[in-house]
Amino acid sequence: MTERTRPTVDRALCKGHGRCYMVAPDVFDCDDEGFAVVTDDATTPEQIAGLDRAVSNCPEQAISTATR
Ligand code: SF4
Repeated sequence: MTERTRPTVDRALCKGHGRCYMVAPDVFDCDDEGFAVVTDDATTPEQIAGLDRAVSNCPEQAISTATR
């Protein structure tokens, strides 16, 4: 079974820096105001690596993950 890591963004913490969707564009995108939105679970090794980079690069610690 494929491991899937589901990210969530806390909208109360997100300041719209954009680091997450720059380092993981296949997991995150931005809304019309520049705040992060999750577009996909991280399932591929590339997505999981990107998600790890996004978590470590978010200055607001707004990204959390749940593996299932
Ligand atoms: S890096 Fe963090 S604060 Fe910045 S847009 Fe992404 S989730 Fe929001």
